[in-house]
This record gives sequence, structure tokens and C-alpha cells, in this order.
Amino acid sequence: MLWDVIIVGGGPAGLTAGLYTSRARLKSLLVERAFAGGQVTTTEWIENYPGFDEAVSGIELAQRMEKQAKKFGLEIIQGSVREISIDGKIKKALFENGETYEAKSIILCTGANPKPLNIEGEEKFRGRGVSYCAVCDGAFFKGKRLAVIGGGNSAVEEALFLTKFAEIVYIVHRRDQLRAEKILQERVFSNPKIKLIWNSVPEKIDGDDTVTALFLKNVKTGESARLDVGGIFVYVGYNPNTKLLENIVALNENNYIITDDAMAASQPGFFAAGDVRQKPLKQIATAVGDGATAAYSAEKYIAENF
Ligand code: NAP
Repeated sequence: MLWDVIIVGGGPAGLTAGLYTSRARLKSLLVERAFAGGQVTTTEWIENYPGFDEAVSGIELAQRMEKQAKKFGLEIIQGSVREISIDGKIKKALFENGETYEAKSIILCTGANPKPLNIEGEEKFRGRGVSYCAVCDGAFFKGKRLAVIGGGNSAVEEALFLTKFAEIVYIVHRRDQLRAEKILQERVFSNPKIKLIWNSVPEKIDGDDTVTALFLKNVKTGESARLDVGGIFVYVGYNPNTKLLENIVALNENNYIITDDAMAASQPGFFAAGDVRQKPLKQIATAVGDGATAAYSAEKYIAENF
């Protein structure tokens, strides 16, 4: 069967693209590796998505987006795309299970994964005190001292979340100013459970069965310090999930997909939306905008080329 559109990735960008392509009566298939929602589902409360004056939980928002898209005919399957190829105007997605799906256009919404620190002990203690998801793992750290690495919105939001469980949360940041938005900074500075450690980078993670210490280096003085912590949450940014696409569409120097204003990637019939594409602001609000635009562009592309 030839689909009009295959959407790869089921976060807010993909689900919105699917909502719009389905309402345009395009035969639309969304492929998701795990379950719909993407990174949103790892956020406890979302306060800055318009329309929800009371914060909405990440899981609820994702489930509602999924239900809405399905209501208009979007087909969602679980699977992992191993390879994408092009045969004339037909695009082919080869799945890990050996199946191949064909489409007239593809919308790439594969998002991004947390960046590791790449320091000694990180791999060894991954899942044993080193985590990249406070909402998933925070409750295991009741009464512990924790370190959160990074100074962006993710680090600060998750540090605030972790104060629900932890005795104390250290935010370790490599500069002396947070990158996070000001309203979040205000909350951090007024939270007695959060302590900021400025101008410091993690060097090594140590422990026995689980993490017991984080070794830091002050980038101004060069001094090293040991921080006794039972858990470390890493929020130093994200890597886009574009490995699959290296030879298909143009990527920037950080491997994000380059698109134009219509969300078109460099290869005809390929569009990208959400955190996987190069853009200045990564938010749910911008991801859904990308998804709607990509759907509109895919519809136009199909009308003009098939
Ligand atoms: P981010 O904004 O890229 O921030 C990453 C932080 O980690 C920065 O403070 C950076 O320091 C630090 N960092 C980077 N590499 C490091 C390293 N090797 N060692 C130590 N520290 C390092 O990433 P994010 O906070 O995950 O956010 C990603 C995107 O999602 C952003 O666009 C963000 O606005 C968005 N987001 C929004 C919300 C929200 O609106 N509520 C929530 C979460 C995420 P520097 O500051 O010195 O560069």
C-alpha cells in the first residue's frame, strides 16, 4: 500500500502533523518507537502551553493529542525505522522487523535525546544513580542529596521537581548565570532546598553499588571538589535523532535537519518538524506549529507531484 504521508516520530510535532494530514484526507501513517508523546511525557507539568491556565501534565497532553489525531483518521503504529531510501518519487521506510512501508512524502519528527556528559563513571552508573529523566526516576531518590548538571530550562525545571523528594538539590553549572527563563530562575533562587554551584563542571562519578560522589572542577580556579550525592541528573542539552537521515537530507554542523520556512528539507518530499530541525526555540508550542506547517507543505507537494 502506498501511503500519502509517513510521519516518523510521535511527539507533539508528529501528532500535530498527523492531525493536519488526516484532516486533509491524506492517508497518513505515524510510526513511533515507544509510545506517543515523546519527550513531553517525561515532563511532569507543562505551564507554558497556551490554553491550559492550570498546568497540564505531560502525559495527559500527549494522550489528548494522540486521541485527537486518531479521531480524524491518523493511523499510529509502533516500530523503529532502520533505513530510509528513495526510489524515484517513492520514499521507502524499512523497519527493524524487516517490513517496508512506502509513501509519497515523509515528515521527520524524530526529536532529540539527552546528551551525555562523557565523563568517567557515567556509563557505569547509568540507571544506578545517573539519570536523564527526573520524572521517571526522581521518586527513587527520596531523602537523598542530588546533583543536577546544566543551567538551561530542563536542568532548572527538573531540579525544582526533584526538591519534592530530595533533601537537597545542587545545580552544577559551568558559568555564573543560568540560561533558563527568568520565571524559573526566580523559583530556583527562592527554593531553600536548591544550592547553586557556579563555574563548575563534572569530572568523574564514583560510587559502590550506586552513586555516592560527584567530582567537580572549578573552571575559574582549577580547583577540584568532591560532592557527596546519591544521584546525578544530567541536563546538558540534546542530540537530534538524525543518524538515519545522514545521507537523505542536509544536516547542520550539530546534525539538526535544515529546513526552509515551509518545513521542507533538502530532499524533495521530505519535511521536518519539532526538535529535530534547526531552529531557535524548542518548545511544544513551536513543535506543533512546525507540525501543522509540515503537513500543509506535504499536502501541497503531493498535489503538485503525484
Ligand atoms: P539547553 O538550553 O541547551 O541547556 C543546556 C545547559 O547545559 C546549558 O546551561 C549549558 O551551559 C549546559 N551544558 C552544555 N554542555 C555542557 C557540558 N558538557 N558540561 C556542563 N554543562 C553543559 O538544553 P535544555 O535545558 O535541555 O533545553 C533544550 C531546549 O528545550 C531549549 O530550547 C529549552 O528552552 C527547551 N525546553 C523548554 C522548557 C520550557 O519551556 N519549560 C523546558 C525544557 C526544555 P551554557 O548555558 O553555558 O551553554
